[in-house]
Order: sequence, then structure tokens, then C-alpha cells
Amino acid sequence: MIEENFDAIVVGAGMSGNAAAYTMASHGLKVLQLERGEYPGSKNVQGAIMYANMLEKIIPDFRDDAPLERHLVEQRLWVMDDTSHTGIHYRSDDFNEAKPNRYTIIRAQFDKWFSRKVRAAGATVLCETTVTELIRDANDRVIGVRTDRAGGAIYADVVVLAEGVCGLLGTRAGLREMPKPQTVALAVKEMHFLPEEVIEQRFGVKGDEGCVIEAVGTTSRSMAGLGFLYTNKESISLGIGCLVSDFAAMVESPYVLLDALKSHPSIRPLIAGSEVKEYSAHLIPEGGYKAIPQLFGDGWVVVGDAAQLNNAIHREGSNLAMTSGRIAAEAIVEVKSRNGPMNKRNLALYKAMLDKSFVVKDLRKYKDMPALLHTNSCNYFTTYPRLMSQAAQNFMRVDGTPKIEKEKATTAAFIKARSRWGLVSDAVRLALAWR
Ligand SMILES: Cc1cc2nc3c(=O)[nH]c(=O)nc-3n(C[C@H](O)[C@H](O)[C@H](O)COP(=O)(O)OP(=O)(O)OC[C@H]3O[C@@H](n4cnc5c(N)ncnc54)[C@H](O)[C@@H]3O)c2cc1C
Repeated sequence: MIEENFDAIVVGAGMSGNAAAYTMASHGLKVLQLERGEYPGSKNVQGAIMYANMLEKIIPDFRDDAPLERHLVEQRLWVMDDTSHTGIHYRSDDFNEAKPNRYTIIRAQFDKWFSRKVRAAGATVLCETTVTELIRDANDRVIGVRTDRAGGAIYADVVVLAEGVCGLLGTRAGLREMPKPQTVALAVKEMHFLPEEVIEQRFGVKGDEGCVIEAVGTTSRSMAGLGFLYTNKESISLGIGCLVSDFAAMVESPYVLLDALKSHPSIRPLIAGSEVKEYSAHLIPEGGYKAIPQLFGDGWVVVGDAAQLNNAIHREGSNLAMTSGRIAAEAIVEVKSRNGPMNKRNLALYKAMLDKSFVVKDLRKYKDMPALLHTNSCNYFTTYPRLMSQAAQNFMRVDGTPKIEKEKATTAAFIKARSRWGLVSDAVRLALAWR
């Protein structure tokens, strides 16, 4: 094992770890990055939509060689009952811009590319190396890590914990609590392979254009859950996720929900004839602002999913991971440039910088994210989808019933299901959520 001392050790080669390692290495710091997977991306799961702005701040010319699938020109938001969907679609040719804003990616390929950039910037990257323990000195300062390799103690001025949502290393070291079942979602995903031209026909896209469908409704069995369908070049990513505590309470399995999504009459034709080559499952932090742990200490900082930095309402995670990794690295570079010790006082700069960024500002907006998503989920994920479907059918069927009676019937159905007070309070909750 490596005997030298490093300026920084980065644990994990996902979005946050790669952002941190790249930024520090390109500022001349001596960086070691350790990844337990066979290669970067082998352990990572994402939908995956990648937000260009946050990567541009790290690698401005990433479009030259990054493995990007499709840039998104259309987003469909569907509310589904068992046989229908009611939708809002937004499509704009403005998204066919020279530097598109959002792309679908496949993490196994993307993370490998990002890691090549990290190596090219000068960092040492070791895969198939699990960090087993943080090493501390007599003053409790983190001074390095131990790995599962023989003689595996390595020392550094600062350790960047970019180990993902479970964060076993940090929790075992007592730096933060283990995420609770009510603050993490379990998502499952399949990759459905189809010829490029079939995808183009089914989704009305051409060239590198892509389309996204996000679906809520009865497929999540009254639990707060989101189904997604993302178009890649020659495959479709299809998945769904709900809170771990909801799965436990409902004694429901994620596979059942995914099967329900796949066999829904609005989704089934879109994946018909596809070959499923991959199945994956992963946790997503959904605790919001309240779940953010202590972000720095003597000799360490924590970034990305390990810091629970994920915006479940807007389905953003990788961009918060890249941004927190970059900002932590910039803070470390700044402390290093002043020849300051990597102690808690100096590393507080990371939090100060992160607080000013969209990451914390967005999460602070939804202070109680789990309550927002999960209180009365039965109404939002079952009752309303059914009512919306009934109302749409009632409106569209021409059967000789006078329109005034149709309108009365729709209003009566809503009041019967939720009462006037229930409707008002649900509307207020939604308005407060989006204000
Ligand atoms: C199904 C699903 C869909 C998603 N869709 C989207 C989306 O469309 N858009 C979006 O922006 N976000 C999405 N996300 C969230 C996004 O994937 C995460 O926010 C992002 O991957 C977090 O990056 P990270 O680097 O913090 O963690 P990860 O990407 O999880 O990386 C952590 C890395 O650390 C390594 N590691 C862990 N422990 C150790 C150890 N002890 N030693 C060495 N290495 C270790 C792991 O192997 C892993 O490579 C989705 C998540 C899921 C599960």
C-alpha cells in the first residue's frame, strides 16, 4: 500500500468524490482517491438526468468528450390511476441550444469518464479499495484512513467523505447518525434496450433529443413515490422509489411497484419489445434540510449523498453532489493556500460557502421535506389521481348529459372524497410547498 502522505484523501469516486478530487488535483494538491468498486461507476445508480451547469463549473468543456446520451427537449408529468394518465407536457425547441441544460447519462460510463479527468488532473485513483476506518490522533483529529488492503494505513491533512447515502464510514466513526428509514427512499430501476429509431418514433424525438416522463399515482400503492422513464440513446431507464419506512409499513416490495409501472397501459407500449439487461436498487436521501449532518470537523469534510444533500421535491441529487464536492475542494484549496491547518475552524469555510449556494438555499426552502412529501400521501397518490381521471372522462365523454350536470357531478365527487375542508387544506399544503 502507498506509504506517502497526501494533502487530501477522497473516499468514493461518485459524482461528489470526483468533483472534489478533480478540483483539488487541478489546483495542484496531492490527492488520493479510493473507490471500493471495480471501477468508478460500477456501484452507482442514478436515473439519470445530469445537470450541465454544475459540471460546467468544474469541467467547462465537458461536452467535447463526456459520454452523454440525449439532451432533454421534453418533460411529461403524469398523474396516473390504474388505467389512465392525466398529464402536463412541456416541450421547447429552445432546449435544442448550443449548450443544452440537461442530459441523460449512464453512470457506469459517465463516472469512468469523470475518473479519467481526475487522473489526468494529477490525482492517484485506486479502485477495489474499501476504506474501513478513519485514523485519528490523540486529539481526535482525523489524520488518515485504513483500507482493506494489506498495510492499509494512509495519511493526509484532510479526508473528504464522498461515500454515498449510507455513509457507513462516517457513521461508524460517530461523525453522524445512520440515515433513518423515514428519511431515505429505496428506488429500483431497469434498463430497457430498444433500437435508436424505435425510441425516436415512440417519443417523437430526433438525433440526440430526449424525453422524460415523471409519474405519480396509484402504482405507488398510496405511498409517496415517483416513477420515472428517461430516454437514452438505445435504452430506456425505468424506475420507481418510495420511502423505506413506507415500504416497511405497507409490507410492500419495490419489485411489485416496478411491475405495476411497467404494465400500466400508458407505459407498456413505450417499452414493448425491449430487452432488459440491467436491474439495480439504491437508496436516495430524502430527509431534506433537517437531515443534513455536521458537514466538517478536525481533518474531515462530508459531501454529496453522504451529507444527505438531495432535493427530492425537484429530483436533483447529482448536481448537489458535484457542487458540494467542488465547494468543499475549493475551501480546502483556500485553507491550504494560507498554510492553515485543516482543523474544524478553518474547514468551517466549506459550510459558509455551501450555505451561500443553491444547494442549501433550495433545501432550506423545504425545511420539512419528509412531512411535505409523505403526510396524507394516500390523498395525493391515490384519491386525487382517481378523481382527476374521473373528471377528465366526464368532461370528454359526449353522452347527452348537459354540461352543467357534468360539472356538478365532478364537484360532488371531489367533495364526497375529501370534503370541502379537506380540499382546501390539501390545496393550501400544495401551495405552501411550492410557494
Ligand atoms: C434510482 C435513482 C435515480 C436517481 N436519479 C437522479 C437523477 O436523475 N438526477 C440526479 O441529479 N440525481 C439522481 N439521483 C441521485 C444521485 O444518484 C445521487 O445524488 C448521486 O449519485 C450522489 O453522488 P455521491 O458521489 O454523493 O454518491 P455515489 O454516487 O453514491 O458515490 C459514492 C461512492 O463511494 C463509494 N464508496 C462508498 N463507501 C466506500 C468506502 N468505504 N471505501 C471506498 N469507496 C466507498 C461507492 O462505491 C460509490 O462509488 C438518483 C438516485 C437514484 C438511486
